[in-house]
Amino acid sequence: MSKHNPYDNVIATVRDAAGKLGLKESEYIEFMYPERELKVSCPVRMDDGSVKVFEGYRVQHSSLRGPFKGGIRFHPDTDENEVKALAAWMTFKCAVVGIPYGGAKGGVTVDPSQLSEAEIERLTRRFTAAIAPIIGPDADIPAPDVNTSGKTMGWLVDTYSAIKGKWSPGVTTGKPLELGGSLGRTEATGRGVMIATREVLKKLNMPVEKQRVVVQGMGNVGSFSAKLINELGAKIIAVSDVSCGIYNEAGLDIPDVIKYLSTKGNLLKNYQQSGVKQISNEELLLLDTDILIPCALENQINEGNAAKIKAKLIVEGANGPTTVEADKILEGMGVIVVPDILANAGGVTVSYFEWVQNLMFLKWELEEVNSKLNSIMCSAFEAVYEIHEQHKVSMRTAAYMTAIKKLAETRKLRGIFP
Ligand code: GLU
Repeated sequence: MSKHNPYDNVIATVRDAAGKLGLKESEYIEFMYPERELKVSCPVRMDDGSVKVFEGYRVQHSSLRGPFKGGIRFHPDTDENEVKALAAWMTFKCAVVGIPYGGAKGGVTVDPSQLSEAEIERLTRRFTAAIAPIIGPDADIPAPDVNTSGKTMGWLVDTYSAIKGKWSPGVTTGKPLELGGSLGRTEATGRGVMIATREVLKKLNMPVEKQRVVVQGMGNVGSFSAKLINELGAKIIAVSDVSCGIYNEAGLDIPDVIKYLSTKGNLLKNYQQSGVKQISNEELLLLDTDILIPCALENQINEGNAAKIKAKLIVEGANGPTTVEADKILEGMGVIVVPDILANAGGVTVSYFEWVQNLMFLKWELEEVNSKLNSIMCSAFEAVYEIHEQHKVSMRTAAYMTAIKKLAETRKLRGIFP
């Protein structure tokens, strides 16, 4: 299969939703173009004394509704089109949940598993310096994404603060607690996925205790989604990581799987428990299950496998896991998809809380963070679900309609410079 360009997904979805809203092209055309794209090369001194150059990107899609916001990923397949699509999705995601941000994304083309920790630190610092001219607490605020974490954000905030000559915690979110991170941020995306799942199950009259769930990806998003949905009473029958999937019809012991994966270097292919079978990632997506929660990378559900999916409900923890072609096939099959820009918005929502706490020099209790997250996720979910029912459109189209309506209204109020 030729490499799918995820930015094509963005254009197609924007056009479709704007059309359903009855907007003129002049009212939405700008959302199909990123405001600014920066490409950088980062020379890094390797541990053996050699020098390698890594290419990276920061794409700022829209600052219409607030400062640019979005994570930074380290991945060997990261390229310009992927980062562009991810940046656009951030704009729509922030608009759906109504937080005062635009959208951006960063990425470095690198396989971090091939680098030592010291090399990753030097790469992070060099990349931060390269994008420093365009980021900042009131300009563009990065956060963790695939293969980056609180530790990466610690190096980022230190480098940026050193360059600026002042401590600037608001330049990034998803920081460790000691550096001004927020309670509840680490699990926020997974918590949001759990809330979206819980709410859609209520609408569909599907009791959570009766559901079998498959989670693709056991990184930050997948592991907290699996843990929290399991705590709601659903049975997690399969999960996967890069090495393989594991399956137990009777339900996996999720706390045990998470504990096993918390040891650095442990992969699911070596996980052993009675009743647990190993399966491939492709088999995992096609399992007989009620709910499928993709929490890995883009384009996992595509025209090659969509028709064979057995889940009745898909909740997108990852960004862009379903291609436009697959979306049409799933819609035809009556599968409900809770789209990424709604389902995984919990992370950026708590990023917003972290940034607000940084700007105000205060700290909220975990209960406050979680209850504010719950109310934002629930009201965004209700708004999208209402449009889904009213206009008889998919939840994805409904979420884009919600976002594009807000963006177009903002543009109308601001006007176009000059
Ligand atoms: N990387 C996360 C996302 O895709 C979080 C972004 C943020 O907190 O800025 O939503």
